[in-house]
Amino acid sequence: MSKIKLLSSNLINQIAAGEVIERPFSVIKELVENSIDAESSQIDILIEDGGHKSIQVFDNGMGMSKEDLQLAFQRHATSKIATQNDLAQINTLGFRGEALPSIASVSQLSAKSITKDSDDGFELTIHGGEVKSFEPIAGLQGTQISVKNLFYNIPARRKFLKKPDTEQRKIVKLIRQLMLSNPQIGFSLSANNKEIYKVTQSNLENRIKDIFGKNFYNSILSTELNKTPYSISGFIGNLSTTKKRQGDQYLFLNGRFIKDRLLSSAVFSAYKSLISRGEFPFFVLFLKVPFGSVDINVHPAKLEVRFQNEWHIYHVIKTAVSNALEDILNVIPEYDPSLIYYNKPKEADIGSQLLFSNNPSNPLAQNIAPRKEGNAPSELQFEAIHSKGMTDDFLIDRANERIVESDESIIPEKLESEIIWQLHNKYLITEIKSGLVIIDQHVAHERVLYESARAAIDGNGMASQTVLFPQTLKLQPDEYSNLLNIIPYLEKIGFKLREFGETSIVIEGIPVDVNWGTEKEVISEILEKYIHNNELDASFIDYIAATFACKAAVKAGDPLNPEERKHLIDKLFATNHPYYCPHGRPIIINLSLDDLDKRFERH
Ligand code: ADP
Ligand code: MG
Repeated sequence: MSKIKLLSSNLINQIAAGEVIERPFSVIKELVENSIDAESSQIDILIEDGGHKSIQVFDNGMGMSKEDLQLAFQRHATSKIATQNDLAQINTLGFRGEALPSIASVSQLSAKSITKDSDDGFELTIHGGEVKSFEPIAGLQGTQISVKNLFYNIPARRKFLKKPDTEQRKIVKLIRQLMLSNPQIGFSLSANNKEIYKVTQSNLENRIKDIFGKNFYNSILSTELNKTPYSISGFIGNLSTTKKRQGDQYLFLNGRFIKDRLLSSAVFSAYKSLISRGEFPFFVLFLKVPFGSVDINVHPAKLEVRFQNEWHIYHVIKTAVSNALEDILNVIPEYDPSLIYYNKPKEADIGSQLLFSNNPSNPLAQNIAPRKEGNAPSELQFEAIHSKGMTDDFLIDRANERIVESDESIIPEKLESEIIWQLHNKYLITEIKSGLVIIDQHVAHERVLYESARAAIDGNGMASQTVLFPQTLKLQPDEYSNLLNIIPYLEKIGFKLREFGETSIVIEGIPVDVNWGTEKEVISEILEKYIHNNELDASFIDYIAATFACKAAVKAGDPLNPEERKHLIDKLFATNHPYYCPHGRPIIINLSLDDLDKRFERH
């Protein structure tokens, strides 16, 4: 008797499920993608216990006929590709025909479907791969899939599922990606009967606003570039949307969310001097490439892709984003590169061509390369890189090393003049080699205070000055208990607070160098934000620093003596980001001699 046996189709499906269906997240991905492929205009997703207990996906798409509904649960049954040719031009999200049979083999599944032009359809019930029933139903056009007790028949797998909370977070992220890539579809997501998202059919701009809220209304810039055969479109965030953590970077390749380190770095590098390493700009970008030039078949979960010519695409993305950022980049003074380099980079020195030019310790160094030509490698250089056979990772690492290496070769441009004028007690004006700069004194001081507050919170804290007349702040009991959580942070920026009675605190000290009577207001504002967010995350800490800075900074209208002006400018140029205030407003405007000459028609 032979030892080798053919596996039963159910066992094959269960094994395949191990690959495609790892967890509730993957079930939802497959089901929602099917609904998108079915041209639905509304998709509703309901989960219980992070999808462990139940997952339901309802759509109003094209539905399946009686025969198709049965076929859909056969392995490798798909309506999306038929020939090898089709494989080279996949424009649907699914194509393997594996998802439904795999899910049905490891859960208790029911699928109801009704096609257009008919009032009735069928419901198919399958438990652990075994058909339990197949019955006619009545209802509206569309498909409703319900998946209960995933892996109920494979205890070993069920045991290794992540906690429902963790799973739910991952699902929410996924739905956010799908909502962004399909603004023309209305979505809702609810978890344990609580609504998490509900968005109506829209366009991309409004979809972004619907998802990310009020802050994004005036903070996104449209981005568009066609460079046949590639095109890029979407939105990028201005500086008020950058975050200290990764997460809101969305890149879609031919409609599919992908993760690609090199292409993301193309976006980051376009922001160059505006952000530092460790900061992440917001973007939602759609990259379209010819079907033939990309292989999406490399990973069953289809997050990673393989490009034929990734460096060309890098260049297109970077150009598109740089163009969109042009207005923001334009207000940054251009420094004469000859002043900045001790040694000009040797020609064909690929590493320094790739400088991602972000050096937090040396703000003026952030403009090391002349911007007009851009400091991305030209297409020819890309070819050169490729013919040398270097890997992308190697190049990125090397570029990053150069950032560190290049530190010593950079000196900042000096102010040309010791004289700093103050205009209407509002703007400071002084000379630099290429012309003159105008500085907004309030936002400049805000930037300085913001960065010192950030550093103080992360480090040893700021000094405090005792006030002559301590003030009492009376709070509601719930506010009070919230305040206790954030007192350590307030103390870090220089407040001295003492508990007083049941629900009051006394403000005994305020940050030094600060002379203002709005301390109660600052504390209340920070407290409100905390109650609203209820999280002590990086963005909250930014908020503390920014609120403090905004309230404590000199105002427009405050006269400054010459020492104070000079001190402020020196301090400003010692910050990481002298060009933008924490809210994204420009601090410095550059007026070049060229501009002046043009205006006076002096050619
Ligand atoms: P794939 O999506 O790779 O084709 P699936 O196993 O996910 O494979 O689905 C099998 C087939 O079932 C699909 O090709 C499609 O024809 C049909 N189908 C699945 N879900 C839906 C849906 N929500 N609406 C209409 N048809 C669907
Ligand atoms: Mg599918």
